[in-house]
Amino acid sequence: MTEFLIHSSRCFIDNAFIDATLHIKDQKIFQVYKGLCLIENIHFLDYKNFIVMPGIIDAHVHINEPGRTDWEGFDTATKAAAIGGITTLIEMPLNASPVTTTVEAFKLKQEASKNKLHVNCGFYGGIIPSNEKDIEDLIKSGVFGIKGFLTHSGIDEFPNVEKHYLETIAPILKQYDIPLLLHCELTDDNVPKVINPKKYQDYLKSRPQHWETNAIDLAIDIQERFDIKVHIVHLSASDGIERIKNRKEKTNKLTVETCPHYLFFNAEIIPDASPIYKCAPPIREKSNNDKLWDYLLHDGFSFLASDHSPAPPERKQLEEGDFFKAWGGISGLQFTLPVLFTEGKKRGLTLEKLILLLTQNPAQFLGLELQKGKLEKGFDADITVWDDTQEFKITEDSIQHKHKATPYLYHNVFGKVIHTFVNGVQVVEKSKLKNLQQGQILLKETHDRR
Ligand SMILES: [Zn+2]
Repeated sequence: MTEFLIHSSRCFIDNAFIDATLHIKDQKIFQVYKGLCLIENIHFLDYKNFIVMPGIIDAHVHINEPGRTDWEGFDTATKAAAIGGITTLIEMPLNASPVTTTVEAFKLKQEASKNKLHVNCGFYGGIIPSNEKDIEDLIKSGVFGIKGFLTHSGIDEFPNVEKHYLETIAPILKQYDIPLLLHCELTDDNVPKVINPKKYQDYLKSRPQHWETNAIDLAIDIQERFDIKVHIVHLSASDGIERIKNRKEKTNKLTVETCPHYLFFNAEIIPDASPIYKCAPPIREKSNNDKLWDYLLHDGFSFLASDHSPAPPERKQLEEGDFFKAWGGISGLQFTLPVLFTEGKKRGLTLEKLILLLTQNPAQFLGLELQKGKLEKGFDADITVWDDTQEFKITEDSIQHKHKATPYLYHNVFGKVIHTFVNGVQVVEKSKLKNLQQGQILLKETHDRR
């Protein structure tokens, strides 16, 4: 079925919910009609008052294939994405082996994803101390950005870079107008001694706010001096907000995201010996996270992303409970929408704002804004249909990730994804996977601006 109609009294069009019918044809939104519209001989799907919105775009996901497919792979991750209403994701350059720091590795990654993509997938390349010369070729090959770490990444093949490496590649990023994505933690010794590695407070204190703010100052300095696009991934430290805010008032080339786990959990509820909650930067205290929410409600964040970064139970130290030996990363790709919607409802986040942060805004960041992120004539038919009144418990049998361990397990959440369409094909029907392998590899089209 390549041509059909989708009707709902709540289609999210032009930033508002309206009664409309979408005419899907040949992978695209062929036409948008006001109200209920039937056309003879064209299949009609009536979703009544379910929300019909553009598919979610998750611009920060670690899939780990090839090389660490036992952690997570394209098949399982993109199934989870589809069930979660995510129709496009962008994959990070580390955790897989080899890491995506050369064109050769980038080709291997694309090869590894063949016949396993159930949603659309693009990729970032990485900057490490030895690959300055590979950056331009990576960009020409279609990566959506270049990611770097300012502290140890957790993956030895992906060492962190110092400022001068970023200065070296900045002119190339400028030339192609490609964003630099930075993990903002700048390590120093000004941290308390660890007494008990199983205590969450010890872990939290080992990665203080000033690591983040020092790194953010560095990121802003690079952004300003080279006039390039710089994106701060997963902001956790509320002390960083003021400096980001000040710079964002002067430029639209600085962008910032945060993730569901910083908005849904607080340090106070994290038990000791439970590295399932470990991520870096860490989940901080409630008072900090309230400030992240405040910034979000005031349109501070450019978009929201999952930073899905799972690992096998042994690597997560689920039995031993040592925060310092455990892999740092939260598994949660599938639950971004219900988690944010559930907490957002309590905080006064409107649906309109939430949807923009998950669709149009990341599309804009990725340069896909003329193709994805809106229900508009000519756009790709990536569509998510969900029921904002339905409450459900997150249980192991519903999880599509390779490993079922996630801090969201057994939480009751609102907002169930019912149907997902990728490139005009229904991949999820009544919350069950249907037609697989509909995802496409997305390559960024670049233009030399010299
Ligand atoms: Zn990440």
